[in-house]
Amino acid sequence: MEIEEEFLRYVRLLYERGHLTLLSGNVSVRAGNRVLVTPTSRPKPFLTVDDLVWIDLEGRVIKGRLMPTSEWRMHVAVYKRRGDVNAVVHTHDVLPIILADKLDSSLLSEAEIYLGSEIAIVEYFQPGTVELAESVAKALERNNVAILKRHGVVAVGRDLAEAVNRVETLVDLAKAVFYKQLLEL
Ligand SMILES: [Zn+2]
Repeated sequence: MEIEEEFLRYVRLLYERGHLTLLSGNVSVRAGNRVLVTPTSRPKPFLTVDDLVWIDLEGRVIKGRLMPTSEWRMHVAVYKRRGDVNAVVHTHDVLPIILADKLDSSLLSEAEIYLGSEIAIVEYFQPGTVELAESVAKALERNNVAILKRHGVVAVGRDLAEAVNRVETLVDLAKAVFYKQLLEL
């Protein structure tokens, strides 16, 4: 399968599973020194191959007629620090945000395995800024998932399957903590 088509399948899956809204969240995958990213301000489930944008590691558009995601700095900052990472997924899942300080991955043994690291917490910075990009990239130097306070989640992986699975795992962990507290277990 072409890389663009596989990428679109993951973006649609993330939307259909409720991790992305029509316009929020963004996804990227690295191929060599090029990065394929979602465009800004376009409804995610209706994206086509022609809507996708290739940028270099400085954020310059190599291919595509649309503007890249406003969080492109965050994506390239992560790739520059993590040679082992080829996919970055950023969602606005709400449960991990509100339970950020209470998430304990030892609650679910699968979570510990799939996340493969601690859960980093990043203080609030305005979306789209260099400050946010650098803070997230620094937090992900030694971690595979980060929760951005009042904002969302970022997960990285060797490929999209690993990064997307980490988003799902983190949300499942947040659900487990939520149910546990709700039921006072
Ligand atoms: Zn965001």
